[in-house]
Amino acid sequence: MTCKDCNKAIGYLEHKEAMDSLGVELCKRHTKLIKKVILDNNTSVEAVQLFYALKKAGVNPMLEWWDGKRFVDIAISRVKLNIEIDVDTELITHEQAINDLEQAMHSFKNGFTTIRIPSVAVKYYLNDTVKNILGIIDGLRKNIKVIS
Ligand SMILES: [Zn+2]
Repeated sequence: MTCKDCNKAIGYLEHKEAMDSLGVELCKRHTKLIKKVILDNNTSVEAVQLFYALKKAGVNPMLEWWDGKRFVDIAISRVKLNIEIDVDTELITHEQAINDLEQAMHSFKNGFTTIRIPSVAVKYYLNDTVKNILGIIDGLRKNIKVIS
C-alpha cells in the first residue's frame, strides 16, 4: 500500500484511517493535509476522491484552486477547466441554482469552462466520471489549438 500523493509506503492503520475517512489511500501526513483542506473549504470527500483519480489518470489537477474570487473544487489549468462537485443536488435552492449559473458565466467570460458534477456520479461511477472528464479535456485541448 502506498500513498496516492507521495508514493510513500503506508501501514495498515494509516491505510485504514485514510480509507475510512477519505476513501483514498494516503499517508498520515497527506491524510492530515487533506483533512485541513476539507475543514478550511468545506470540500466534499467526492472532490478529494475525484482529485486523486484524475491525478492517477495523468491529469494535473489542483484541489481548491483560488480563481481570484472563490475556491474551485478542482481546476485543470492547462485547459482552463473548473470542476465543481455538487452535493445534495436534490436540495438545491433556486438562489443557489441561479448563482451557480452566474458563476459559470463569469468564468466562461474569463476563458474557463465550468462543469458541475453531482457527487453521486463520483461516488458510484468514479471510473466513468474520470473517462468523461478526460474526454472533455481532450475536446478543450483541441479547441485551444484551433483558436491559437
Ligand atoms: Zn503521502
